[in-house]
Amino acid sequence: MIPFMFGEEIYEYFKQIKQIFDPNGIFNPGKIVDAPRMNTFLRIDHTKPKREFQTYFNFDNDGGFSNSIEKCNGSGDCRKPQILGGTMCPSYKATLDEKHTTRARANALREIISKSNKGNPFVDEDLMEVFSLCLSCKACKSECPSNVDVTKLKAEFLQHYYDDAGVPFNVWMIGNLNIFNRIGSFAPKFYNFIVKNKVTSSVLKYLLKFEQKRQLPELKEISLKKWDRKHQAARTNRQIYLFADEFTNYFDSDIGVKAILLLEKLGYGVKIAPVGESGRTFFSKGLLKRAKKIAEMNVRNLADLINENTPLLGLEPSAILTFRDEYKEIVSGDLHDSAKNIARHTFLLDEFLANEFEKGQINSNSFTEQSLNIMLHTHCHQKALAGSDALMKVLSIPENYQVEEIKSGCCGMAGSFGFEKDKYDVSMKIGELALFPAVRNAPEDTIIVANGTSCRHQIAEGTSRKALHFVEVLYDAMK
Ligand code: SF4
Ligand code: SF4
Repeated sequence: MIPFMFGEEIYEYFKQIKQIFDPNGIFNPGKIVDAPRMNTFLRIDHTKPKREFQTYFNFDNDGGFSNSIEKCNGSGDCRKPQILGGTMCPSYKATLDEKHTTRARANALREIISKSNKGNPFVDEDLMEVFSLCLSCKACKSECPSNVDVTKLKAEFLQHYYDDAGVPFNVWMIGNLNIFNRIGSFAPKFYNFIVKNKVTSSVLKYLLKFEQKRQLPELKEISLKKWDRKHQAARTNRQIYLFADEFTNYFDSDIGVKAILLLEKLGYGVKIAPVGESGRTFFSKGLLKRAKKIAEMNVRNLADLINENTPLLGLEPSAILTFRDEYKEIVSGDLHDSAKNIARHTFLLDEFLANEFEKGQINSNSFTEQSLNIMLHTHCHQKALAGSDALMKVLSIPENYQVEEIKSGCCGMAGSFGFEKDKYDVSMKIGELALFPAVRNAPEDTIIVANGTSCRHQIAEGTSRKALHFVEVLYDAMK
């Protein structure tokens, strides 16, 4: 290339100068002078056919699974340190180790599946090691210039790994959290005794491979769905469906109740969507066979209900955004159009309220005139798929509320990630990058808002301060 750009004569001078100053060719060998041909070290060997796999997710938009890995162009944006902001990539920001970048994960997958001769190349402990600290935060899906989606790649890899290596007991238990919570909800006091008692909780944490320092979340006395069955729903023609996700339903039903009462006061009729869990725990742990069944069941149940007049709204970002993100990429072909239609009409509650406020359906006069300072931490999945503008807007509906967004990336908890014994230190380190110091330095009378149940848990354990869901703040602000 250099002789072509500068001409043979000048290139000869380059060679002579190089020979004078670096006769043994020890400085940047092979660069500028005596460089190999441009097609010498291509990472794709076009003489070999690409290896494709039967995948659980649909990768058609990327031209197949292999191409979705090839999207990484090596730019290294995923090596940004915390000081440059953004969320990608929290595991790199905490460890400053290339092995824990988005790029390393894409590269490792490519290397293994293109070079391995095994029938199932995914059963590979090195690959497991490279993916181990990925928090499935989805930041790369939006911040990587090529939109490499490692959350999706990791889940796909894990399911193939488990297909041959089996599902570890602790992973199975975490995936099935909703079933344990449902059983526990028949005797919440007993459940809470088990998770709080020193002996029983330590046995539970041992089985789950959780860090002993972590506090397990407790169930509320009554689940959101149970409360709603006794609640006299308001009659109105402005109807919405609220998703009582697996976390809000059992751990944060008080927030769900406030959401229903808030919506009713604002003139909306609320029905609980006739679905169970979102499947988030299965997606996060790579148990995609089960996640696919849940996604298909939910899409079938909602196909005729959700449309532009009756949208689906949710409170917990990681759960509701599954309807918008993963479902349309995992349901089988006959449900694809329905999944896409549901995705189009699925919103975080803050997105819905911000939109209604814009349209003039909600007025600041319904809220207090008192002043309040709020610091907001936005959930990673919300940052990646929806952004924080709507959340900032709804929190500013009471006219004297001042909202400041914390320039935090991921909180470090990411579902069960931060609970796991071998991830605990990294989890807390990620929290310390920006979120914990900002919360600790916030004045006592400043309210901390975080919509993710994991984020609130992490803030409580990392800073001893209680964070609220935005619904709690807005509910309290109603006149
Ligand atoms: S993963 Fe994305 S940000 Fe990282 S090197 Fe590849 S293209 Fe660049
Ligand atoms: S999902 Fe998050 S932790 Fe995993 S590679 Fe992407 S940015 Fe990094």
